[in-house]
Order: sequence, then C-alpha cells, then structure tokens
Amino acid sequence: MEKNEITILGAGLIGTLMAIYLKKQGLGVTVYDKRPDKRKTLVDEGGRSINMALSHRGWKSLEQVGLKDKVLPLAIPMFGRKVHDEHGGTAFISYGKEDQAIYSISRGKFNQLLAEEAERLGAEIRFEHKFLDVNFENQEIIFETKEGKLKQTVPVIIGADGAYSALRTAMQKQIRFNYRQEYISHGYKELTIPPTAEGEFAMDPNALHIWPRGKFMLIALPNPDQSFTCTLFLPFEGTKVCFEKINDEFDLEQVFRSYFDDAYHLMPDLKKEYFKNPTSALINVECYPWVKGHSLLLGDASHAMVPFYGQGMNCGFEDCFVLNQLIEKYGLNSWDLVFEKFQKKRKPDTDAICQLAMENFIEMRDSVADPKFIIRKKIEAKLHELYPKEWIPLYSMVTFSDMGYAEAYAQGKLQEAIMDKVMADPLITENWDKLDYLDIIDKMETAKAV
Ligand SMILES: Cc1cc2nc3c(=O)[nH]c(=O)nc-3n(C[C@H](O)[C@H](O)[C@H](O)COP(=O)(O)OP(=O)(O)OC[C@H]3O[C@@H](n4cnc5c(N)ncnc54)[C@H](O)[C@@H]3O)c2cc1C
Repeated sequence: MEKNEITILGAGLIGTLMAIYLKKQGLGVTVYDKRPDKRKTLVDEGGRSINMALSHRGWKSLEQVGLKDKVLPLAIPMFGRKVHDEHGGTAFISYGKEDQAIYSISRGKFNQLLAEEAERLGAEIRFEHKFLDVNFENQEIIFETKEGKLKQTVPVIIGADGAYSALRTAMQKQIRFNYRQEYISHGYKELTIPPTAEGEFAMDPNALHIWPRGKFMLIALPNPDQSFTCTLFLPFEGTKVCFEKINDEFDLEQVFRSYFDDAYHLMPDLKKEYFKNPTSALINVECYPWVKGHSLLLGDASHAMVPFYGQGMNCGFEDCFVLNQLIEKYGLNSWDLVFEKFQKKRKPDTDAICQLAMENFIEMRDSVADPKFIIRKKIEAKLHELYPKEWIPLYSMVTFSDMGYAEAYAQGKLQEAIMDKVMADPLITENWDKLDYLDIIDKMETAKAV
C-alpha cells in the first residue's frame, strides 16, 4: 500500500477539513465514520451543540483551502455579548474593536459543506464504519460495518474521532501513554427561542446573549432561520438551581420565571423541549503522546475542552493548518518527523487553551454580571486603542489573533495581575477614564522583561 494513502477516522468538522487539506496536497484520502450519512437519513445529534462560534483561527484555516467565501453565507456575526440581568435590563459588551466579531454557525450545515467539499476533491467518505481497534505493529485496523467486521492494513492513520476517541483508547493500552479526563460539575441542555410571529429574530441577532447567574447561566446564539439556540448550563446536583432539582413543569417554570424571565416569555416550547432534550456532560481531556507508529490524534480526540472560550473547533481547525504547514516543510514521505514535530509544537498550546476554557466559565457565568467587569473591559479596550501592540486583551489574543495559545495565556496572566491592582482603586468606577495609561503599559513592559 502506498504511503500517500491516508486514513482518517471521523468525518466530523476536523476530520473533513483535514481531508480537504490532504487532498490539496495530492494525497489519497479515505474517511471513515461510525454514523450514517446525514444527507441520506435524519440523524439524532445526541444533544451536541447545534450552533457554535467560529472565530479568527477557524477562518484562517478555512481561507487557506479557499473555503472562506463558501462558509460566510452560513455565518451570522456577533459583535459582542448582550448581558441580560434578572430584571430584563441588558448591557452590550463588545468582543473587540468595532468590526471584530465571532460568527454563529450551524454545526450540521457546516459539517455537510466540509464533507461535500472533501468528496468534490476526491476524498472517499465511508459512513457506518465504526473503528474498533488497531494493531500498531502492522497498522491493521478493524471496523464494524453492517456486513460484519472489516480488517484493513493502512499506512497512515489520523484519528479525528472526537472527545471519546476509539483510536485514543487503543493508544491508552500502550505503555507510557498519559491520559487525564475531567467531567466538570455542570452539564448543558439545548433549548430554542423561535422567530416572532412576524418571522423576525426575537432579540438582537448580532450578539451572543448571556444570562449570567453566578453558579449557572443561559446563553443564546442566532441561527439563519431567525431562531436562537439557547444553551442552559446548570450544575448536575448539589445546589438550589440544578438539573437534579428540576423534575416537573412547575420546577422548571419557577427557575425560568425567577432567573430568566425575559427569555421565558420568548420560549413557547420550553416545557416540551426541556423534558425531551438530553442533558449532556462536559468533559476536558488531555493526553500525550498523540502519536503511535504512523497514527496521530487530532482535534477533540487529543484535546477535548469545555466550551466556554468557543475554541474547541477553532483549535482543531488550527491543528489542520499547523499539520499542513509541517507536511509542506518536511514533504509527503516523512510522517514520523511530521507527526513528532506536530505534537511537540501543538501540545503546549492546546494545554493552554484547555486551561483558559475552564477559567472562562467563571467569567461567563459570574464576572460579566459585575459592573466592575464592564469597567475593566473598558480600561483594557482603551489600553488596546492607545497602545495596540503593547496591550492586546486576552480575549482578543485568543479569539482575534493566531498568537500561540500558550503565549496568549502567559501574557494574559501578566495583564491580569496588573489589572487586579488597577481595579483595587476604590474610586476606579469614577476615575477609569483619567488613569495614567502609559504607566500601566510601563508596568506591563517591566513584567514581561522579568
Ligand atoms: C456545548 C458545546 C458548545 C461548543 N461550542 C463551540 C464553539 O462555539 N466554538 C468552537 O470552536 N467549538 C465549540 N465546541 C467544541 C466543538 O464542538 C468541538 O471541538 C468539535 O466538534 C471537535 O470536532 P472533531 O471533529 O474533533 O470531533 P467531533 O465533532 O466529535 O467529530 C468526531 C466524529 O468522529 C466520529 N466517530 C467517533 N467515534 C468513531 C469511531 N469509533 N469510528 C468512526 N467514527 C467515529 C463521530 O461520529 C463524529 O462524526 C462546543 C462543544 C460543545 C459540547
């Protein structure tokens, strides 16, 4: 078998984009997925997020293979967070500069576009092929198909089979494979705000809506059909408001009327949806090495993160971009070298974004409701406006740049320490506009030099 025949496990977002990159390199690509072809059957997504936020790293990776213009019509720009308080009041906090946005996109349609593009370029996608195991000595893989077990020997395997990766499970049986997983205390459930009777969006479509309530929150992202997909994040158990304590329509109404009353009035199907839709868990997975023989883990298979920075897919797309760069540098016959370089380069960055995603949960559900948080964001925005190179807010480094996540994390920690001191001033709410901004920059430069 030719070494330039690549087997990809998983036709999700990352597997299909990687297939497109590899086809553009002139390689033979076969993608296997355990699920049926969504174009032929209605597939239950099993409670996985219906829409998601696409940002700079994702766009850059799509642009590299000429897909940006095809994807843009599917995406709705969100220029900031619209924070809803408990009394129905709202405040808008920009994500970055005026024209900077993250984009809401439907997972299903996006995945379909990528799959069709991969096929158009000549990749073969075989659905209903569940990868079961691999012998790393001879690269023999086993699939379960409708016709029974299928064995194949393949030269190169890329495992893009998601957070519960079966290729990763096979690697775990090998010696010296490190693995850490953590389910957080919270889960999520998806709900809908439909269009109004006039067929319009019920809220501003160009914002990500958040109802932050300390230990829990609701968010909503717009869809092209004028609806919003809402995600309710609650602890599974143990607190006053948690999934365990919502057992009937009365409990549900109490929670929504008390904490999300403005949203409640926009959700006619709430009761039906809440009890029909699954409650899903949130997991963080870190592992290493990502390589065994000629097999590599990619995307969520190697670094599944909690969704609070909106980076899981964007990071996986960046994996494809970086892997492609290394293929271009080292050629099509140096998989050992390419895979080795890839895991060494990417691991510190993916560790950093996994950590940031955990930390951002507190910011989203709690800090954004604090008036001081808005002042803090205004100070950082002004610092960025006055000194665009010296001070880039952490959110912007992660979302609107392609700076390594690890570097963004390190700079973010220095900025956080300086901003904590600035915010300690008891008169900051009145004086924030009159601060000595150059002095803050000097402190940052000194901190960086240490
Ligand atoms: C609630 C929520 C919200 C999110 N929001 C965002 C967001 O706003 N922005 C963002 O960037 N990211 C977001 N993410 C993360 C994003 O969904 C993932 O990072 C992304 O889907 C990972 O893509 P993947 O292709 O690696 O894995 P997946 O999308 O999970 O795809 C894996 C594929 O592999 C297949 N497969 C699995 N096992 C096998 C097997 N044994 N054999 C064959 N095929 C198999 C599956 O059927 C699937 O098609 C969110 C995640 C969640 C849970």
